[in-house]
Amino acid sequence: MTTAKRKIEQRGIVLVMVPLLFELIFVGVLAKMLLDARNQLFEERRARSVVTTVSVLSRRTQTAARILARYTNDREPALLEQYDRVIAPAPGEFKELRALVKDRPEDLRTVIALEHSVLKAIAILEDCKEVFGQKNNKMAHLVYYPRLYRAGMTAEKEMDTLLQRYRAKERADREANDRASGIIFAWLAIGVLFNVGVAIILAVFFSRSITRRLEVLTDNTMRLSEKRPLSERVEGDDEIAELDRVFHRMADALHEADRLKQDFFSMVSHDLRTPLSAVQGTLTLLLDGTYGELEPRGEDRVRVAQAETERLMSLVNNLLDIERLESGQLAVAPSPLELAPLVKAAVESVRSLSEAKKIEIVSNVEDVLLSADKERMMQVLINLLGNAIKFSPPESRIEIAGRIADGTVDISVTDSGTGIPKDVGDSIFDRWRQAEPDSGVDRGSGLGLAISRHIVEAHGGEIGYESREGEGSTFFLRIPVPEDE
Ligand code: ADP
Repeated sequence: MTTAKRKIEQRGIVLVMVPLLFELIFVGVLAKMLLDARNQLFEERRARSVVTTVSVLSRRTQTAARILARYTNDREPALLEQYDRVIAPAPGEFKELRALVKDRPEDLRTVIALEHSVLKAIAILEDCKEVFGQKNNKMAHLVYYPRLYRAGMTAEKEMDTLLQRYRAKERADREANDRASGIIFAWLAIGVLFNVGVAIILAVFFSRSITRRLEVLTDNTMRLSEKRPLSERVEGDDEIAELDRVFHRMADALHEADRLKQDFFSMVSHDLRTPLSAVQGTLTLLLDGTYGELEPRGEDRVRVAQAETERLMSLVNNLLDIERLESGQLAVAPSPLELAPLVKAAVESVRSLSEAKKIEIVSNVEDVLLSADKERMMQVLINLLGNAIKFSPPESRIEIAGRIADGTVDISVTDSGTGIPKDVGDSIFDRWRQAEPDSGVDRGSGLGLAISRHIVEAHGGEIGYESREGEGSTFFLRIPVPEDE
């Protein structure tokens, strides 16, 4: 049971875990790609910063050289101030540049060399500034220009190398970044589609394997209630299969219980009814004087015994009837019947009871034909009339009416007896149900109305009642008239 229990649980876990696992792998791959793309973007930005800073530095040194060249001619002190302003940020920019390439040893070496060359050129410029300012040193530029030119050229070359390297890098990084974006998007689409696919396939597989077998179980419950043979056992060893096994075992036990009940009832019918009939017969013979005259007291006792035996016999008969009706063993055989003679016979058969209570039974029956099983319909009418007499006060009136209405033959029995409490409802037609068991009226078994309902329903009809407590009741039946009649 425990292992079986785990089976569906395991399937449920697989159903959830498999897509989850794929999702995790997929998210992991995506995260790695995004990280790479981010690094590339960072590299691209760094390359761009290097390119910009080097360009600025290059422009700065050229501008500074140009300002000094003008100063050689004009000797304007303002030009010297301008020169200082232009050259001042260079050391800071070199620092920035070094920080940008600090984790790339080769580039760092290039930047340091470049800085060195530029500083050298700046030192020469500084010298120039000093020397060119002296009035007696007019030819100094002949010495300094070539030195400046060489230093400038070296710095320019180094800047060019760095610029080209970083421009190429910037381009390569940008392209790689574009490519990475495309790949990430493709992965995203593939991942989502794949995950949805896996989830759908698993869900379909899982629910098919469960619902198909659950349908068999549901069908089996219907079959059991309709007393049809059950389907084959469902395959598998999970809890559905276990449930099916238990269900089959339960159905077998029910069949066995049914069989035992049938045996019991046939035992009752043979072994109880036979001696009861013998006792009844003997009591009748006793009353008839076959075994000698009885004392009046003895006669009274025998009459009571006879009534009790009759009660017992009717209880046994009722029990057998309801059992056979419920198990479908007692089929009704309808045939065309005239209602008026049927009602008359039923009234006759309860006459001794009604006369004992001085109750008048008024029959108000139209001349109609109905299709019914004579014996069974008679049983229903006698039961309804018997109840009406039982629950009516002496010297009252009972009316039995019958008429054809709207495709049915309607029969009703109205009394002015005790009535039935409102809360009882339709349960009055259940087996053993009695409205007021302690009412003091000589009660029967509580089976009469249950049997009547079975018989009426077996005719395709319905039975019901209307009642007011303390005022009386009307029990009615509606039996459908066959189409061709
Ligand atoms: P019983 O053998 O007890 O009469 P029934 O199935 O015929 O069994 O009736 C069940 C119960 O319904 C009765 O015990 C009684 O409480 C109530 N009942 C039936 N018919 C009437 C009626 N005409 N008036 C009042 N109560 C009734």
